[in-house]
Amino acid sequence: MTSNAALPDAPNASAAPQASQTSPASQHAVRTDVLIVGAGPVGLFAAFEAGVIGLSCQIVDALGEVGGQCIELYPDKPIYDIPAIPSCTARELVERLLEQCRPFDVPIHLGQRVESVEQRADGRWTVKTGEGLEFDAAAILLAAGNGAFAPQRLALEEAVPLEGRHVHYSVRNLADFAGKNVVVAGGGDSALDWALALRSVAGKLTLVHRRNGFSAVDSSVEKMRRAVEAGEMTFMVGAIAGLNAPNGTLESLEIRQVGGATQIEAEHVVALYGLVADLGPIANWGLSLHAGRIDVDTSNYESSRPGIFAVGDIANYPNKQKLILSGFHEASLALRKAYTYAYPEQKRVHVHSSYDAKLAARVAASAE
Ligand SMILES: Cc1cc2nc3c(=O)[nH]c(=O)nc-3n(C[C@H](O)[C@H](O)[C@H](O)COP(=O)(O)OP(=O)(O)OC[C@H]3O[C@@H](n4cnc5c(N)ncnc54)[C@H](O)[C@@H]3O)c2cc1C
Repeated sequence: MTSNAALPDAPNASAAPQASQTSPASQHAVRTDVLIVGAGPVGLFAAFEAGVIGLSCQIVDALGEVGGQCIELYPDKPIYDIPAIPSCTARELVERLLEQCRPFDVPIHLGQRVESVEQRADGRWTVKTGEGLEFDAAAILLAAGNGAFAPQRLALEEAVPLEGRHVHYSVRNLADFAGKNVVVAGGGDSALDWALALRSVAGKLTLVHRRNGFSAVDSSVEKMRRAVEAGEMTFMVGAIAGLNAPNGTLESLEIRQVGGATQIEAEHVVALYGLVADLGPIANWGLSLHAGRIDVDTSNYESSRPGIFAVGDIANYPNKQKLILSGFHEASLALRKAYTYAYPEQKRVHVHSSYDAKLAARVAASAE
């Protein structure tokens, strides 16, 4: 998803400390003061803070949903250590962060993985996503957590050419599986939720998991067991060890079980083994790294490349705590330095939010 709210134009940044190429930004590049990579809790708070400071920003995330780890890994778990919120679920926290940055109409580009960065002669950055978006930013704020999340794939070579047609790592549209012989693999919340949802549309539904114990919530496990007893779906203990797809059409799976292997017929496999995070291309941006994290100066959370900042879980410094509240603080300081790249000629005057009339008006307008 890409939303296209208009943003004010930023003036040119004149500082060009490490220009590495001279080509101008392309005409279709989205111009912004700060490009925030990552729509996790820290990226979302950074968008609010950018607005308060007077910076335009755009957020990009590889996932199809905002919220980072909070939504992908523990949406319904309570969080107790957010200042002034004694308890809320991770999902509620993300909803509140979205509400907080709403006054600034920040465009959020989802399903876009940031791949490359180049600094131009004018000091600004050209950032491209693998999906074809291009940004022209005065500064980059990496709030990329552990890196871009991607589904854990089947470790089978023959699965690769079948991806998207017979092998799936998510379900976009239940109707795609109507009347089909479908195998769902995995034992977590996602696998059980989708197995239960698909059983009503698929011609046949088999859940395959390596043991008869699940990490999904108890209520889903009970529902699944009742559905198996009612003959609405089948459950097999085992692991997918091979795909039989003559002429590129999936016909059967080899399931490895204690004591041997079994062949079962299947037209589609939906493998829901969870997500893996991968720092990916950011690791090749020439930033100083330590154990997969980006080294930063704790006075402003700037990386070894001036103009690129790292905040939240991706930042590395002595005694770094991977906590949401630490990321909020880091983002706030980083953006103050980012301002000097976007508006090098201007001195920013700090105003407490409680005395910020423009902010008060924006918040009031967005609440109407
Ligand atoms: C089970 C669990 C419970 C937790 N409980 C707490 C708690 O109680 N309190 C607390 O403070 N913390 C808790 N944490 C830690 C907390 O969730 C993290 O510190 C926090 O999510 C870090 O936020 P972030 O925005 O830095 O990164 P993330 O939440 O990881 O978000 C990063 C985002 O960046 C995106 N991204 C990465 N690379 C790219 C790229 N190249 N292009 C585009 N997008 C990219 C990712 O897709 C992701 O959405 C918990 C963590 C877990 C796993």
